[in-house]
Amino acid sequence: MIIVMASSKKEDVEHVVQRIEELGYKAHVIVGVERTVVAAVGDERGKERLTALEALPHVEKVFPILKPFKLAGREVRSEDTVVECGTAKIGGGHFCVMAGPCSVESKEQVNLSAQIVKDAGATMLRGGAFKPRTSPYSFQGMELEGLKLLWSAGQAVGLPVVTEATTPEQVAIVAEFADMIQIGARNMQNYGLLRAAGKSNRPVLLKRGMMSTINEWLMSAEYIMSEGNPNVVLCERGIRTFETETRNTLDIQAVPVIRKLSHLPVIVDPSHAAGRWELVLPMACAAVASGADGIMVEMHPNPEVALSDGQQSLKPRRFEELMAAIRPLLDVMKKTL
Ligand code: PEP
Ligand code: MN
Repeated sequence: MIIVMASSKKEDVEHVVQRIEELGYKAHVIVGVERTVVAAVGDERGKERLTALEALPHVEKVFPILKPFKLAGREVRSEDTVVECGTAKIGGGHFCVMAGPCSVESKEQVNLSAQIVKDAGATMLRGGAFKPRTSPYSFQGMELEGLKLLWSAGQAVGLPVVTEATTPEQVAIVAEFADMIQIGARNMQNYGLLRAAGKSNRPVLLKRGMMSTINEWLMSAEYIMSEGNPNVVLCERGIRTFETETRNTLDIQAVPVIRKLSHLPVIVDPSHAAGRWELVLPMACAAVASGADGIMVEMHPNPEVALSDGQQSLKPRRFEELMAAIRPLLDVMKKTL
């Protein structure tokens, strides 16, 4: 249920929160520009008792949230959410470019990558330390050492960093060394991991599962938000279809669909969608034109020797070309980098 406050006064909001909790619901306060609402989330069966809160003088109205995603949906918040991640802002007109190698491979490789993406205009540094690989025999990442290398490479150039946690146990250590926790496509429905990320105070980048519907994806965002973490950024990274020419099929329609259903920022990862470097620039342009709030792109100083995803990684010069290609489109879409 949504409780729309007639008053935004702290004591009035606290009073409503207390009443909601007494009725056995979780209260989430959402402060908008025009109004403050409190979402009461829990067992739907007792909702009549929440309706009674309408009698309070500082409550304007109480109505049900119709969609299954209660906190992620537009019903509860009509304005776009802006997620802040260190110096980067994502959503509400702020466009974010997360770029860097698929995996952290060495100190030199990650430092050089950080410098290249920073000079070209990226706003965040990416790099995997704990890698979710399809084969147990593939390179699994540099783990804690990689995490520390990524963090210091980001510090050196002044870019916030985003990296993946693959288990609930990794969330705390990733939160210590990264500005944003990535949940990968293979883990989109790992509910223990979603809950752990929801308890963390770092923003979360939630990739769409390669076989997941938009509804399932938003329900996964809901898991994170229901634990108290409102800072979720969605990432469309391609889904599995019958097509074999590309690694996945970029579902670009997901961007305007998400923007209609949810207030959360949505970005596009053209690298994992395409699986081939030459498709990354046109799909990055498509992402901007579709209304996305950012892109995530793999860039490697020397893709021929990359330990993972070399075939889809851009060389430094090609990454600069991508940045030059999207800038005029960002102006058209009234987005700022
Ligand atoms: C990645 O970003 O390196 C990654 C593994 O992506 P995905 O989870 O989308 O496959
Ligand atoms: Mn990759």
